[in-house]
Amino acid sequence: MICFLSMEVCGFTFEELGDWLEQAGEKRFRAAQIFDWIYRKGVLSFEGMENLSKELRKRLAESLRFPLLKLAAVQESDETSKFLWELSDGKRVESVLIRSFDRRTVCLSSQVGCPARCAFCASGREGLIRSLTAGEIVEQALHIDRFLKEKGERVCHLVYMGMGEPLENYDAVLKSIRILNDERTLHISQRRMTVSTVGIAPEIRRLAEERLFVNLVLSLHAPNQHFRKKIIPFARKYPLEEILSAMDFYAEKTRRDITYEYTLLSKINDQEEHAIELASLLRGKQCTVNLIPYNPVQGLRLERPDRANVCAFQKILESRGIRTTWRYTKGDDIAAACGQLALQKPSGLTNFGATS
Ligand code: SAH
Repeated sequence: MICFLSMEVCGFTFEELGDWLEQAGEKRFRAAQIFDWIYRKGVLSFEGMENLSKELRKRLAESLRFPLLKLAAVQESDETSKFLWELSDGKRVESVLIRSFDRRTVCLSSQVGCPARCAFCASGREGLIRSLTAGEIVEQALHIDRFLKEKGERVCHLVYMGMGEPLENYDAVLKSIRILNDERTLHISQRRMTVSTVGIAPEIRRLAEERLFVNLVLSLHAPNQHFRKKIIPFARKYPLEEILSAMDFYAEKTRRDITYEYTLLSKINDQEEHAIELASLLRGKQCTVNLIPYNPVQGLRLERPDRANVCAFQKILESRGIRTTWRYTKGDDIAAACGQLALQKPSGLTNFGATS
Protein backbone atom coordinates (compact mmCIF):
# COMPACT_ATOMS: atom_id res chain seq x y z
CA MET A 1 0.00 0.00 0.00
CA ILE A 2 1.53 3.30 -1.05
CA CYS A 3 0.94 6.43 0.94
CA PHE A 4 0.60 9.45 -1.36
CA LEU A 5 1.64 11.99 1.19
CA SER A 6 3.11 14.76 -0.88
CA MET A 7 1.16 14.36 -4.11
CA GLU A 8 3.88 15.93 -6.19
CA VAL A 9 4.09 14.46 -9.64
CA CYS A 10 7.91 14.78 -9.70
CA GLY A 11 8.08 13.00 -6.37
CA PHE A 12 6.46 9.91 -7.88
CA THR A 13 8.42 6.99 -9.23
CA PHE A 14 6.99 5.59 -12.45
CA GLU A 15 5.33 2.75 -10.53
CA GLU A 16 3.83 5.11 -7.97
CA LEU A 17 2.30 7.29 -10.64
CA GLY A 18 0.83 4.12 -12.21
CA ASP A 19 -0.62 3.15 -8.81
CA TRP A 20 -2.01 6.63 -8.30
CA LEU A 21 -3.70 6.57 -11.70
CA GLU A 22 -5.14 3.14 -11.06
CA GLN A 23 -6.55 4.20 -7.70
CA ALA A 24 -8.07 7.20 -9.41
CA GLY A 25 -9.81 4.84 -11.85
CA GLU A 26 -7.52 5.72 -14.76
CA LYS A 27 -5.40 3.52 -17.01
CA ARG A 28 -1.92 2.70 -15.74
CA PHE A 29 -0.26 3.31 -19.08
CA ARG A 30 -1.06 7.01 -18.78
CA ALA A 31 1.97 7.17 -16.47
CA ALA A 32 4.25 6.66 -19.49
CA GLN A 33 2.52 9.49 -21.34
CA ILE A 34 2.79 11.84 -18.37
CA PHE A 35 6.47 11.03 -17.80
CA ASP A 36 7.11 11.60 -21.49
CA TRP A 37 5.49 15.05 -21.39
CA ILE A 38 7.38 16.08 -18.29
CA TYR A 39 10.84 14.60 -18.70
CA ARG A 40 11.21 14.36 -22.50
CA LYS A 41 9.04 17.08 -23.93
CA GLY A 42 9.59 19.46 -21.04
CA VAL A 43 5.95 20.46 -20.69
CA LEU A 44 5.28 22.07 -17.35
CA SER A 45 1.51 22.03 -17.06
CA PHE A 46 -0.97 19.19 -17.22
CA GLU A 47 -3.01 21.44 -19.51
CA GLY A 48 -0.34 21.04 -22.21
CA MET A 49 -0.46 17.21 -22.20
CA GLU A 50 -2.47 16.92 -25.38
CA ASN A 51 -2.91 13.16 -25.64
CA LEU A 52 -4.74 13.03 -22.28
CA SER A 53 -8.45 13.69 -22.07
CA LYS A 54 -9.54 17.13 -20.89
CA GLU A 55 -11.15 15.48 -17.89
CA LEU A 56 -7.94 13.68 -16.85
CA ARG A 57 -5.85 16.83 -17.32
CA LYS A 58 -8.23 18.73 -15.08
CA ARG A 59 -8.11 16.00 -12.49
CA LEU A 60 -4.33 15.85 -12.51
CA ALA A 61 -4.09 19.62 -12.16
CA GLU A 62 -6.44 19.52 -9.17
CA SER A 63 -4.70 16.64 -7.41
CA LEU A 64 -0.98 16.77 -8.18
CA ARG A 65 1.36 19.69 -7.52
CA PHE A 66 3.49 20.67 -10.47
CA PRO A 67 5.74 22.56 -10.95
CA LEU A 68 7.02 23.12 -7.43
CA LEU A 69 9.85 25.51 -8.19
CA LYS A 70 9.83 29.07 -9.48
CA LEU A 71 13.01 30.51 -10.88
CA ALA A 72 13.90 33.56 -8.79
CA ALA A 73 17.29 34.42 -10.26
CA VAL A 74 20.04 33.06 -12.48
CA GLN A 75 23.66 34.08 -12.24
CA GLU A 76 25.95 33.02 -15.06
CA SER A 77 29.70 32.85 -15.42
CA ASP A 78 31.84 30.99 -17.96
CA GLU A 79 31.84 27.69 -16.17
CA THR A 80 28.82 27.84 -13.90
CA SER A 81 25.23 29.00 -13.77
CA LYS A 82 23.62 29.33 -10.38
CA PHE A 83 19.86 29.00 -10.17
CA LEU A 84 17.94 30.39 -7.23
CA TRP A 85 14.56 28.74 -6.76
CA GLU A 86 11.58 29.87 -4.77
CA LEU A 87 9.53 27.05 -3.24
CA SER A 88 5.78 27.10 -2.69
CA ASP A 89 6.21 28.22 0.93
CA GLY A 90 8.44 31.12 -0.11
CA LYS A 91 11.69 29.47 1.06
CA ARG A 92 14.64 29.54 -1.30
CA VAL A 93 17.29 27.08 -2.41
CA GLU A 94 19.90 27.02 -5.10
CA SER A 95 21.28 24.63 -7.69
CA VAL A 96 24.39 25.06 -9.74
CA LEU A 97 25.10 23.95 -13.30
CA ILE A 98 28.78 23.31 -13.91
CA ARG A 99 30.14 23.12 -17.45
CA SER A 100 33.39 21.30 -17.91
CA PHE A 101 34.27 20.38 -21.51
CA ASP A 102 31.22 18.42 -22.69
CA ARG A 103 30.20 17.41 -19.17
CA ARG A 104 27.14 19.09 -17.65
CA THR A 105 26.90 18.56 -13.91
CA VAL A 106 24.12 19.78 -11.67
CA CYS A 107 24.81 20.42 -8.01
CA LEU A 108 21.56 19.77 -6.15
CA SER A 109 20.31 21.06 -2.81
CA SER A 110 18.67 18.58 -0.47
CA GLN A 111 17.53 20.93 2.31
CA VAL A 112 16.78 24.59 2.99
CA GLY A 113 19.63 25.58 5.27
CA CYS A 114 21.80 22.86 6.77
CA PRO A 115 22.17 21.24 10.19
CA ALA A 116 25.95 20.71 9.86
CA ARG A 117 26.92 24.36 10.43
CA CYS A 118 30.43 23.99 9.01
CA ALA A 119 32.47 27.04 10.01
CA PHE A 120 33.31 27.98 6.42
CA CYS A 121 29.96 27.38 4.70
CA ALA A 122 27.20 29.92 4.11
CA SER A 123 24.43 27.31 3.81
CA GLY A 124 24.31 26.33 7.45
CA ARG A 125 24.56 29.73 9.08
CA GLU A 126 20.92 29.73 10.07
CA GLY A 127 20.85 26.00 10.71
CA LEU A 128 18.32 23.69 9.14
CA ILE A 129 15.09 25.30 8.01
CA ARG A 130 13.45 22.33 6.34
CA SER A 131 14.15 19.31 4.20
CA LEU A 132 13.20 19.29 0.55
CA THR A 133 10.73 16.79 -0.80
CA ALA A 134 11.79 14.30 -3.47
CA GLY A 135 9.81 16.32 -6.02
CA GLU A 136 11.66 19.52 -5.12
CA ILE A 137 15.00 17.78 -5.60
CA VAL A 138 13.98 16.14 -8.89
CA GLU A 139 12.61 19.41 -10.27
CA GLN A 140 15.98 21.17 -9.82
CA ALA A 141 17.51 18.70 -12.27
CA LEU A 142 14.47 18.71 -14.54
CA HIS A 143 14.37 22.49 -14.98
CA ILE A 144 18.10 22.74 -15.62
CA ASP A 145 17.84 19.91 -18.14
CA ARG A 146 15.10 21.88 -19.94
CA PHE A 147 17.35 24.95 -19.90
CA LEU A 148 20.17 22.87 -21.47
CA LYS A 149 17.93 21.21 -24.04
CA GLU A 150 17.41 24.59 -25.68
CA LYS A 151 21.15 24.53 -26.44
CA GLY A 152 21.10 20.90 -27.55
CA GLU A 153 22.74 19.73 -24.31
CA ARG A 154 21.65 17.64 -21.35
CA VAL A 155 22.44 16.99 -17.73
CA CYS A 156 24.74 13.98 -17.42
CA HIS A 157 26.13 14.17 -13.86
CA LEU A 158 24.54 14.98 -10.52
CA VAL A 159 26.22 15.91 -7.25
CA TYR A 160 24.29 16.25 -4.00
CA MET A 161 26.55 19.04 -2.78
CA GLY A 162 24.30 22.07 -2.69
CA MET A 163 22.53 23.30 0.42
CA GLY A 164 21.79 20.75 3.11
CA GLU A 165 22.94 17.40 4.38
CA PRO A 166 21.62 14.71 2.00
CA LEU A 167 21.79 11.87 4.52
CA GLU A 168 19.66 13.88 6.97
CA ASN A 169 16.98 13.79 4.28
CA TYR A 170 17.61 10.17 3.39
CA ASP A 171 14.25 9.04 1.99
CA ALA A 172 13.69 12.02 -0.28
CA VAL A 173 17.29 11.94 -1.55
CA LEU A 174 17.14 8.22 -2.24
CA LYS A 175 13.86 8.58 -4.05
CA SER A 176 15.21 11.42 -6.18
CA ILE A 177 18.17 9.19 -7.12
CA ARG A 178 15.84 6.42 -8.22
CA ILE A 179 13.58 8.78 -10.15
CA LEU A 180 16.39 10.61 -11.96
CA ASN A 181 18.08 7.31 -12.80
CA ASP A 182 14.91 5.96 -14.48
CA GLU A 183 15.20 5.64 -18.26
CA ARG A 184 11.84 7.39 -18.63
CA THR A 185 13.13 10.51 -16.86
CA LEU A 186 16.60 12.10 -17.24
CA HIS A 187 18.16 8.62 -17.19
CA ILE A 188 21.30 9.67 -15.36
CA SER A 189 23.58 6.77 -14.57
CA GLN A 190 24.04 6.10 -10.85
CA ARG A 191 27.76 5.98 -11.48
CA ARG A 192 27.49 9.60 -12.49
CA MET A 193 25.77 10.61 -9.28
CA THR A 194 27.66 11.66 -6.15
CA VAL A 195 26.32 12.10 -2.65
CA SER A 196 28.41 14.27 -0.35
CA THR A 197 27.90 13.86 3.37
CA VAL A 198 29.19 15.40 6.56
CA GLY A 199 29.20 11.84 7.95
CA ILE A 200 26.16 10.13 9.42
CA ALA A 201 27.51 6.68 10.16
CA PRO A 202 24.25 4.67 10.32
CA GLU A 203 22.91 6.27 7.14
CA ILE A 204 26.16 5.59 5.26
CA ARG A 205 25.77 1.91 6.18
CA ARG A 206 22.12 2.00 5.18
CA LEU A 207 23.01 3.53 1.82
CA ALA A 208 25.60 0.79 1.30
CA GLU A 209 22.81 -1.80 1.52
CA GLU A 210 20.58 -0.16 -1.09
CA ARG A 211 22.18 -1.87 -4.10
CA LEU A 212 22.97 1.46 -5.69
CA PHE A 213 26.15 2.48 -7.47
CA VAL A 214 26.30 6.15 -6.52
CA ASN A 215 29.63 7.69 -5.48
CA LEU A 216 29.97 8.71 -1.89
CA VAL A 217 32.06 11.62 -0.65
CA LEU A 218 32.83 12.39 2.97
CA SER A 219 33.46 16.00 3.93
CA LEU A 220 36.37 15.43 6.27
CA HIS A 221 38.09 18.82 6.68
CA ALA A 222 40.25 17.76 9.66
CA PRO A 223 42.60 14.86 10.46
CA ASN A 224 41.15 13.98 13.87
CA GLN A 225 37.87 14.05 15.77
CA HIS A 226 38.88 16.72 18.26
CA PHE A 227 39.81 19.20 15.58
CA ARG A 228 36.94 18.21 13.30
CA LYS A 229 34.37 19.09 15.94
CA LYS A 230 35.69 22.63 15.98
CA ILE A 231 35.23 23.06 12.23
CA ILE A 232 31.99 21.09 12.01
CA PRO A 233 29.76 21.34 15.11
CA PHE A 234 27.63 18.45 13.77
CA ALA A 235 30.69 16.16 13.93
CA ARG A 236 30.07 15.74 17.67
CA LYS A 237 27.34 13.26 16.85
CA TYR A 238 29.50 10.46 15.47
CA PRO A 239 33.08 9.49 16.31
CA LEU A 240 35.34 9.81 13.29
CA GLU A 241 36.39 6.13 13.51
CA GLU A 242 32.74 5.12 13.23
CA ILE A 243 32.27 7.29 10.15
CA LEU A 244 35.45 6.03 8.47
CA SER A 245 34.52 2.45 9.14
CA ALA A 246 31.07 3.09 7.61
CA MET A 247 32.83 4.59 4.56
CA ASP A 248 35.00 1.45 4.27
CA PHE A 249 31.84 -0.63 4.47
CA TYR A 250 30.32 1.45 1.66
CA ALA A 251 33.41 0.95 -0.52
CA GLU A 252 33.38 -2.79 0.13
CA LYS A 253 29.66 -3.25 -0.56
CA THR A 254 29.41 -1.06 -3.65
CA ARG A 255 32.94 -1.46 -5.02
CA ARG A 256 33.00 2.30 -5.50
CA ASP A 257 36.07 4.34 -4.65
CA ILE A 258 35.69 6.74 -1.79
CA THR A 259 36.53 10.43 -1.90
CA TYR A 260 37.35 12.57 1.12
CA GLU A 261 36.85 16.28 0.74
CA TYR A 262 39.14 18.58 2.62
CA THR A 263 38.39 22.29 2.54
CA LEU A 264 41.67 24.06 3.21
CA LEU A 265 41.43 27.04 5.54
CA SER A 266 44.56 29.15 5.73
CA LYS A 267 46.52 28.71 8.99
CA ILE A 268 43.74 26.57 10.44
CA ASN A 269 43.81 23.09 8.88
CA ASP A 270 46.39 23.54 6.11
CA GLN A 271 49.63 23.07 8.04
CA GLU A 272 52.28 20.41 7.49
CA GLU A 273 51.32 18.53 10.65
CA HIS A 274 47.69 18.32 9.47
CA ALA A 275 48.76 16.78 6.15
CA ILE A 276 50.98 14.23 7.94
CA GLU A 277 48.18 13.28 10.32
CA LEU A 278 45.65 13.09 7.48
CA ALA A 279 47.94 10.76 5.53
CA SER A 280 48.25 8.45 8.50
CA LEU A 281 44.48 8.53 9.14
CA LEU A 282 43.79 7.38 5.57
CA ARG A 283 46.74 5.01 5.20
CA GLY A 284 45.85 1.83 3.32
CA LYS A 285 42.44 3.06 2.15
CA GLN A 286 41.33 2.96 -1.49
CA CYS A 287 40.49 6.62 -1.64
CA THR A 288 41.12 10.03 -3.13
CA VAL A 289 41.44 13.25 -1.18
CA ASN A 290 39.87 16.19 -2.95
CA LEU A 291 41.48 19.39 -1.71
CA ILE A 292 39.24 22.44 -1.93
CA PRO A 293 40.87 25.77 -1.12
CA TYR A 294 38.29 27.72 0.91
CA ASN A 295 36.11 30.02 -1.17
CA PRO A 296 35.41 33.23 0.74
CA VAL A 297 31.95 33.66 2.23
CA GLN A 298 30.86 37.19 3.11
CA GLY A 299 31.01 37.89 6.82
CA LEU A 300 33.38 35.02 7.69
CA ARG A 301 36.87 35.82 8.90
CA LEU A 302 38.59 32.92 7.21
CA GLU A 303 41.23 32.93 4.52
CA ARG A 304 41.98 30.97 1.43
CA PRO A 305 45.44 29.38 1.46
CA ASP A 306 47.70 30.44 -1.37
CA ARG A 307 48.61 28.10 -4.18
CA ALA A 308 52.04 27.23 -2.74
CA ASN A 309 50.48 26.08 0.52
CA VAL A 310 47.99 23.86 -1.24
CA CYS A 311 50.82 22.35 -3.31
CA ALA A 312 52.89 21.68 -0.19
CA PHE A 313 49.91 20.03 1.52
CA GLN A 314 49.27 17.90 -1.56
CA LYS A 315 52.91 16.87 -1.83
CA ILE A 316 52.91 15.49 1.71
CA LEU A 317 49.81 13.40 1.02
CA GLU A 318 51.08 12.14 -2.35
CA SER A 319 54.49 11.24 -0.94
CA ARG A 320 52.68 9.05 1.59
CA GLY A 321 50.72 7.23 -1.10
CA ILE A 322 47.44 9.17 -0.86
CA ARG A 323 45.87 10.07 -4.19
CA THR A 324 44.76 13.69 -4.37
CA THR A 325 42.90 16.04 -6.69
CA TRP A 326 42.45 19.79 -6.52
CA ARG A 327 41.64 22.82 -8.58
CA TYR A 328 42.56 26.36 -7.74
CA THR A 329 39.68 28.44 -9.05
CA LYS A 330 38.87 32.10 -9.06
CA GLY A 331 36.12 31.32 -6.64
CA ASP A 332 33.31 30.68 -9.05
CA ASP A 333 33.34 26.90 -9.10
CA ILE A 334 31.00 24.43 -7.49
CA ALA A 335 32.18 24.72 -3.91
CA ALA A 336 32.18 28.51 -4.09
CA ALA A 337 28.55 28.35 -5.05
CA CYS A 338 27.48 26.50 -1.91
CA GLY A 339 25.03 28.59 0.07
CA GLN A 340 26.03 31.92 -1.39
CA LEU A 341 23.25 32.58 -3.85
CA ALA A 342 20.47 31.69 -1.43
CA LEU A 343 21.33 34.76 0.61
CA GLN A 344 20.29 37.10 -2.16
CA LYS A 345 16.90 38.76 -2.43
CA PRO A 346 14.68 37.36 -5.20
CA SER A 347 13.69 39.56 -8.10
CA GLY A 348 11.60 38.98 -11.20
CA LEU A 349 10.25 35.52 -10.44
CA THR A 350 9.72 33.24 -13.40
CA ASN A 351 6.93 30.79 -13.02
CA PHE A 352 7.84 27.77 -15.11
CA GLY A 353 4.21 26.75 -15.10
CA ALA A 354 3.38 29.66 -17.36
CA THR A 355 5.93 28.78 -19.99
CA SER A 356 4.76 25.40 -21.20
N1 SAH B 1 26.37 18.57 3.77
C1 SAH B 1 27.08 17.92 2.73
C2 SAH B 1 26.89 18.52 1.34
C3 SAH B 1 26.94 20.02 1.22
S1 SAH B 1 28.52 20.80 1.34
C4 SAH B 1 28.55 17.82 3.08
O1 SAH B 1 28.94 18.34 4.13
O2 SAH B 1 29.29 17.20 2.36
C5 SAH B 1 29.39 20.19 -0.03
C6 SAH B 1 30.85 20.58 -0.05
O3 SAH B 1 30.96 21.98 -0.22
C7 SAH B 1 31.60 20.27 1.24
O4 SAH B 1 32.51 19.25 1.06
C8 SAH B 1 32.37 21.53 1.54
O5 SAH B 1 33.71 21.27 1.62
C9 SAH B 1 32.14 22.43 0.36
N2 SAH B 1 32.07 23.84 0.77
C10 SAH B 1 31.06 24.48 1.34
N3 SAH B 1 31.37 25.78 1.55
C11 SAH B 1 32.62 25.94 1.09
C12 SAH B 1 33.51 27.06 1.02
N4 SAH B 1 33.16 28.25 1.46
N5 SAH B 1 34.73 26.85 0.49
C13 SAH B 1 35.09 25.65 0.02
N6 SAH B 1 34.30 24.56 0.07
C14 SAH B 1 33.08 24.70 0.60
